[in-house]
Amino acid sequence: MSLNFSVIASGSSGNCSILWNEKTAILIDCGCNAKYLSKQLENLNIDIKNLYSIITHAHLDHISVSCINFLKKNQIPVYITKNIFKDMLKKHEHKIKDCLYIEYNRSFAIDNIKIEAFDVYHKDANISKTCGFTFFSEVKKRSYKIGYITDTGKICNNIIKILANSNILVIESNYNKQMLEFSFRPYENKQWILSDFGHLSNEDAANAICEIQKCSTVKDSLKYVFLAHISKHHNTYAHARHTVNTILLNNNITGINLLVAKRNSKSPTIRIN
Ligand SMILES: [Zn+2]
Repeated sequence: MSLNFSVIASGSSGNCSILWNEKTAILIDCGCNAKYLSKQLENLNIDIKNLYSIITHAHLDHISVSCINFLKKNQIPVYITKNIFKDMLKKHEHKIKDCLYIEYNRSFAIDNIKIEAFDVYHKDANISKTCGFTFFSEVKKRSYKIGYITDTGKICNNIIKILANSNILVIESNYNKQMLEFSFRPYENKQWILSDFGHLSNEDAANAICEIQKCSTVKDSLKYVFLAHISKHHNTYAHARHTVNTILLNNNITGINLLVAKRNSKSPTIRIN
């Protein structure tokens, strides 16, 4: 049995990743366009019958209307916390009613992939809660961990501990501080992005990666790190990569394959086999 991971889309225009093996495929967020998602699944040879989904929060870039229709039409199970389901009801009424409820810090399994949700710092007037996830699966009797945290205003020690020892980490690197300061966004929106319940800057992401690596004890921890949810308006792929690389080097952290998740194209697939 192998384990594969790819980011299909990342950013405020839509977020979606996929973790899969020979029997099961899990969509992590479903915020892109359903036509684009179908095309990517077809290219990856993933059968819709093997598909499950798990959603971090109810912002439209993480669960889009077209993907709700796609999930419903194809009867794809949706795993979600009760709070996030309530947030979704506000926008989508009863379009998704047969969700499977999950709880924070209580692990469950989809086939042989173990999953745990944890609480993160991301909310506004429309959404009350957001999750991060850790996934665990064995390949050739060795356990692998994937950490996933795309929207959070800050990273606390508890989150560092939860994400420690991830072999693959997806973490948001949302904004460049200067670009945000001079962007056209309304003052209130900027203040929310900067707040403890908004998003992480490139520096915040870099510092979190350093702390997670210092807290990790296993071989191959943070072998692959994806910088995700890079803002179109107040960041660039180059800024995110440069800032994170510089801070990692200043902390003598080497050996991480740093990947930048793009808005409208699939990342390379990480294959563990
Ligand atoms: Zn969000």
